[in-house]
Amino acid sequence: MPNSSQREVRVRFAPSPTGDLHVGNIRTALFDWAYARHTGGKFIFRIEDTDRERVTDEYIAAAIDTLRWLGLQWDEGPEVGGPYGPYLQSQRLEIYAEWATKFLAQGDAYHCYCSAAELEAVREAQRSANVAPGYDGKCRNLSAEAIAVYEAEGRKPVVRMRMPEGSTTFTDLIRGDVSFEHDFVPDFVLVRADGSPLYTLAVAVDDVMMKVTHVLRGEDLLSSTPRQIRVYQAMGVTPDEYPLFAHLPFVMGQDNTKLSKRNGEVSIAWYRDAGYLPEAICNYLALLGWSPGEDREDVSMKELTELFTVERVHSSPARFDMKKLEAINGDKIRSLTLDEFYSRALPFLQRAEVITGTVAEADLVKRALPIIQERIATLSEIPLMLKFLFVTNFSVEPDSQTKIQDEQSKKVLQSALDALSGVSDWSHESIESVLRVALIEGLGLKPRIAFGAVRIAVTGSHISPPLFESMELLGRERSLERIKAAL
Ligand code: GLU
Repeated sequence: MPNSSQREVRVRFAPSPTGDLHVGNIRTALFDWAYARHTGGKFIFRIEDTDRERVTDEYIAAAIDTLRWLGLQWDEGPEVGGPYGPYLQSQRLEIYAEWATKFLAQGDAYHCYCSAAELEAVREAQRSANVAPGYDGKCRNLSAEAIAVYEAEGRKPVVRMRMPEGSTTFTDLIRGDVSFEHDFVPDFVLVRADGSPLYTLAVAVDDVMMKVTHVLRGEDLLSSTPRQIRVYQAMGVTPDEYPLFAHLPFVMGQDNTKLSKRNGEVSIAWYRDAGYLPEAICNYLALLGWSPGEDREDVSMKELTELFTVERVHSSPARFDMKKLEAINGDKIRSLTLDEFYSRALPFLQRAEVITGTVAEADLVKRALPIIQERIATLSEIPLMLKFLFVTNFSVEPDSQTKIQDEQSKKVLQSALDALSGVSDWSHESIESVLRVALIEGLGLKPRIAFGAVRIAVTGSHISPPLFESMELLGRERSLERIKAAL
């Protein structure tokens, strides 16, 4: 068989969804996908759900939904199928059991009868003697009599892999040669006493059986690699057929510790609800550990697949910067066509119950969107910005209300009303020129003060889209009514 670097590239994303997928998971998925697309290989999506107490059907469905929303289409995996399925580990339990049985028969693995309390006692002794923790090998070479005694006691054994003396070295595509002394890789459990497989067994068996050529995953899994390689050996895989590993750098939070729920990491589903575009999330996550070169920060999905190589991935940690994600999101919003912007805005307006779905509303939304496109960083700002156009029982926000109660504001609003009453061509140009003459020249006020009062009166808030365009959209009658009401 050709070795892993010569075969068609097969990359897998293999999450264990014990909650919603987060930044770290999706950065991995994105790099896996981009690498597969760049090389013309296959992107495989495998769900590692052997721990069904923590991985639920809801989380699996949400993971599938998130990947689809981001546009990371997989070639093999749940809902898609493929030649090496099933792609849910919980449906592959027999396969793992067969391999474990084979490893036992070959002598690569053995039954270990140590109880949890005995193992804890060993660890305690190791701690006080200041030696590396790990299994002490007590059951490695049990006699038939010793086994019979344990069995008679009703003990249920785990299956443990035998780690030979020596070390494991592999070439990580990002980090170069990495070695692990086996003194620090004790014999490890493959199958629990209840027969359920552990991660190390399932992941290694599946990577071999699904013919995975490249394992791109987070650095936190680096130390599990020598154990996986040990499983490949027991499976009879030759070293040139091992998947090639690339461990992606950690993503750190603002406080320089690994990004986690504790220092602000939130799920991708949260970003979606908060009005981030999938292409903005992918663009930003692509920069966490990789760069397209030339100090560029703007990458489309297409460019990512064209430019992505593992050589360009750094080994040093990346820092998650919410402000930068927001800036990229704003850029992506600005580059949407009006039709695209409209279809993305609509669900946010509907969810906030700003619109009910009439044709007249749709028309007004389409006319209003261009005036806010330059001004927002997330789609969730749209309802707040446009609400004033659709409310039926309009009122000024309480904290803005206090700003237009003084004598000067009243004077401004009265002058605005008088001047605007004579305007018949209700265009933003006319509105602007009339108000400039009346308020800036006439009353000698600064634009911020003069227009600020009008803004509050007609939009209900001191933050709004551009004033004259807003008034044009709102219409003559409603604008004048609102100024009158404010007076
Ligand atoms: N299922 C593992 C996890 O979510 C990752 C497996 C792998 O990429 O090797 O942590």
